[in-house]
Amino acid sequence: MIPLTRPWIDDTEIDAVTEVLRSGWLTQGSRVSRFEEAFRHRVGATDAIAVSSCTTALQQALHVVGVGPGDDVVVPSFSFIATTAVVAHTGARPVFADVDVATGNVSVETLDAAVTPSTRAVIAVHQAGVPLDLPALYSWCDDRGVPLIEDAACALGATCDGSPIGADAWVAAFSFHPRKILTTGEGGMLTTRDPDVAQRLRQLRDHGSNLSAAMRERAPGAGSTVVEQYLEMGFNHRMTDLQGALGEVQMGRLTDIIARRRARASRYHDLLRRLPGVHPVRDPAWGTGTYQSFWIRLEGATRQDRDHVMAHLAQRGVSTRRGIMATHREPACAGLPGGWLAPGGLESTELLSDTSLIVPLWHHMTDDEQDRVVHALGEVCS
Ligand SMILES: *Cc1c(COP(=O)(O)O)cnc(C)c1O
Repeated sequence: MIPLTRPWIDDTEIDAVTEVLRSGWLTQGSRVSRFEEAFRHRVGATDAIAVSSCTTALQQALHVVGVGPGDDVVVPSFSFIATTAVVAHTGARPVFADVDVATGNVSVETLDAAVTPSTRAVIAVHQAGVPLDLPALYSWCDDRGVPLIEDAACALGATCDGSPIGADAWVAAFSFHPRKILTTGEGGMLTTRDPDVAQRLRQLRDHGSNLSAAMRERAPGAGSTVVEQYLEMGFNHRMTDLQGALGEVQMGRLTDIIARRRARASRYHDLLRRLPGVHPVRDPAWGTGTYQSFWIRLEGATRQDRDHVMAHLAQRGVSTRRGIMATHREPACAGLPGGWLAPGGLESTELLSDTSLIVPLWHHMTDDEQDRVVHALGEVCS
């Protein structure tokens, strides 16, 4: 069976984690700091703050904005459910924006349809690593005095106007789940251009403490002479040093990983050209993506047609997944106490979710494996 993806882990990662295990310091410490520094440097951000996942990263971003009951937060329904769940947990109302069919991302047009007088923040997703049109979105948000939070879970290594995603973000949130670009098992990272926001985010992940774990690790007598203060009620969203060590090694591979993924995607584009009803995800005019998920849309298909294609590929030994979910159709949304809103309609979200599927793509995929995927597709999508 050809898997959907495979993380790239070798002895370098295993040795780095073993070294942490032998060191006796397991929770957030110097290895997390080193990972943050490598991340900050590679992305070109002012600050990088490691947390336990992209979900907790987004939760902290909303906490910094101060989102709560009575507020509306615009999010795409066309995303992993976490993008909406973090809003629901604040007591605010998720307002779903539709997406552009070509990119799978929100645009100025779809935000226009979703804005309400109570809009307090926008979470925009670089879906599957396809970069958002950031200048347009930041200018839309600035005009309305609404902060833009970038869900960059899948977008580490993507660029917009030649600049890495996260480099100049108000707040961008990344994921290190094994399905994403780099992995630490579980894990997340925040970048921000605002030093005050960085300070808050750092404090919030560690119970509101004014003293970082790394500072405590360096302190003589390991904390005996250094007393921390708790400046606000925070969370435990810390990353462990085991994950930090893993992340630092993975970070060294990022450029190679992106180059390999993009070369595979480009080969898919060439091979799929002979299947006219199959529309693969592509770079938008303003940037380059990561192809975290290589999704294809089947022109004129129904949900049943798509499911039939997936069943055929499974029979031929090719793993696939349904297209990115339409969050508003999940049972969890029916139970939202304050409900949710989609003033602009969600036609493109439903179309994409019903008629697209994700096919295998990973860093070390071979030509032969890729040919088998395309051949199996050709048998049902001629
Ligand atoms: C994976 C993903 C998340 C959640 O990331 P975790 O690190 O697993 O919490 C959030 N948003 C999007 C768009 C994702 O793809």
